[in-house]
Amino acid sequence: MTTQGTLRGNIAGGAAAIAFTACDVVAAAQARVRSQARATARGKGGAKAAPRRLAAVPSSRRRAVVVGGRRAKTIDVHAHCVIPEAYALLGRKVDDHRGPGIGEVGERRILEMDAQGIDMEALSINPAWYRAERDVVTRVIKIQNERLAEFCARYPDRFVAFASVALQFPDLAVQQLVDGVKKLGLRGAAVGASVADEEFSDPKFHPFWAKAEELGVLIFIHPQSTPDLARRFRGNGWLANTIGNPLDTTIALSHLIFEGTLDRFPGLKICSAHGGGYLPSYAPRSDNSLRVAPDMDTGVKLKKKPTEYLRQMYYDTLVFTSEALRHLAAEVGSNRLVIGTDHPIPWQDKSIDHVLKAPGFSDKERRAILGETAARLLGIKL
Ligand SMILES: [Zn+2]
Repeated sequence: MTTQGTLRGNIAGGAAAIAFTACDVVAAAQARVRSQARATARGKGGAKAAPRRLAAVPSSRRRAVVVGGRRAKTIDVHAHCVIPEAYALLGRKVDDHRGPGIGEVGERRILEMDAQGIDMEALSINPAWYRAERDVVTRVIKIQNERLAEFCARYPDRFVAFASVALQFPDLAVQQLVDGVKKLGLRGAAVGASVADEEFSDPKFHPFWAKAEELGVLIFIHPQSTPDLARRFRGNGWLANTIGNPLDTTIALSHLIFEGTLDRFPGLKICSAHGGGYLPSYAPRSDNSLRVAPDMDTGVKLKKKPTEYLRQMYYDTLVFTSEALRHLAAEVGSNRLVIGTDHPIPWQDKSIDHVLKAPGFSDKERRAILGETAARLLGIKL
């Protein structure tokens, strides 16, 4: 069994050698993987401890997804992990985090992906650092992004990753995004749904959106429970997550639309977890609010109807039923949907069947949802 200890042991050996000053950190990480593999082949550690590049040898247990007679590569944009040593700097423990195996990116995770038919995950780390001081968060992000790059180098055809960024310091976040994408080969950034009580539409974040737009990379929005409502979420039902998360995303997207942020950065590529929260379920209400209450118009002139902005963003498919998926596609367009499993948090272990079995989609649409759209957004070769 691959344990977190084994993983840390495998990774830790090479980690200290990584530095942002290196001209090609990814190549260095790949070289380390190769040299570790050679060392193992020479007899160190035995076969079970080998940092083999599992991805190079397709597992016979991997479910091969076929659509219209052709193998369809499946890509999951909503997959969590945690880096234990970075978490420790924030005073947190991996064991506090929900999701069995969330501290592991290796054989266990790959076996679970294989069973579900997921060829690739785009790894992200939920931002638990938006209130951290600048020096601490600088270290946290550096560790996380370097580790994520190592995972991707170790299993290049199983993982890509979103950079972590310290959005509470927008200038730092811009640099972390640039370094993550250009030096570490990460494919975008993962963010929360607000930043320590401040909305994404606040002008202080404009430089970050501008840089993401310029780089053409995907920004993955993952909510953080609408913390302002913690008192009302108490009681049975895990409401802080059950309804807090979709609500948090709904608020974030609504501000990006109504404050004109999406007009200002029309090329910005945003993908929201959980099917965009509640917004696509009740979208046309947004087209009527200022008609009903014109006194609530602050003077922002939008170029389109609020619902039209939904069709310039992306959403994962974590909406549970065929009817919910049909409705989401009707509101945002099937070409805006990508798989999201929430792995290893067990919200959904039938993500592939969810897409395959929902009526009303053509094979072309299913292939796009299963992987082609995500591949284009994340720079993955099919
Ligand atoms: Zn999630």
